Amino acid sequence: ARSRTPPPKLPRYVRVNTLKATVEQVEAALARVHPSVCRDPHVPALLRLPPGTDVHAHELVASGRAILQDKASCMPVLALRARPGWRCVDACAAPGNKTTQLAAAVGARGRIVAFERDARRAELLSRRVGEAGAHAIVEVRHADFLSARPADHRRVRALLVDPTCSGSGIVGRLGAPDEGESADTNGGDASAPAERIAALAAMQQRVLCHALSFPRATVVVYSTCSVHAAENEGVVAAALGAVAPLGWRLGVALPAWPRRGLPNAGVELSDELCARCVRCLPEDGCGGFFVARFERPAALRAAFT
Ligand code: SAM
Repeated sequence: ARSRTPPPKLPRYVRVNTLKATVEQVEAALARVHPSVCRDPHVPALLRLPPGTDVHAHELVASGRAILQDKASCMPVLALRARPGWRCVDACAAPGNKTTQLAAAVGARGRIVAFERDARRAELLSRRVGEAGAHAIVEVRHADFLSARPADHRRVRALLVDPTCSGSGIVGRLGAPDEGESADTNGGDASAPAERIAALAAMQQRVLCHALSFPRATVVVYSTCSVHAAENEGVVAAALGAVAPLGWRLGVALPAWPRRGLPNAGVELSDELCARCVRCLPEDGCGGFFVARFERPAALRAAFT
């Protein structure tokens, strides 16, 4: 039997769905039952509760005004810096935590095409989008993102790539599954053997490079909830080598976040480029996560359309 490590006690996070409520409204409603609720210092519209607080059954959650989402899982959309009215693609979308967070960022004038290849998860995604009041912003497509034709998405400016990963950063993966994030990973496993990691990395790189081939895109954010460098800095290094001729470079993701990508991770990414990426760990009060931001100036983008 595998040894079981008790998961560290992390705060419970609640993201305010600003499509349906204000931060003040949700904070005040939660404070009536949980007086120690407070705002997260890094992520706007994220509220923090003591470890173990159970808010699953709260009316705010049932009504879609509050969404249970770990702090680390909020980072990729923050790193995308999407503006109201932007057209975006969420390449690997179910269950839709980041899709609905992005919907709140682009607002009523924005549009998101959200791909999900698994039928059951695509249904869950549609349901979550509806509950969040984002159905007019998000078009759910039950399809493999790799089959999407970039030329059919000429108005898309930003893409989010959060593919299936080993899930090795998920707190509780070696013990009891963490109910808040278990649906995010599609079967990740912290003890995945090297061959599985290599296969995942190859798939992640294909999905990332496909996103980077969208003709009018100026920003692509890549994320995993893995702690393995092969799925993170390694995928970024391989993709960067392939897409640099298209004008893409590695931007600085979330400059104010102190924990950066791993230097000397044994992958082909310089320490300076690793430092442009972001990592999160349980020591930061959230799950293990990795985020990288690819960007290119609009002028260079035009050269490839
Ligand atoms: N971004 C999601 C969220 O924040 O709620 C979590 C995404 S989960 C890590 C990865 C999802 O991508 C799974 O539901 C998986 O079925 C889907 N997926 C993986 N590869 C895909 C592909 N090529 N096209 C579409 N969906 C894909």
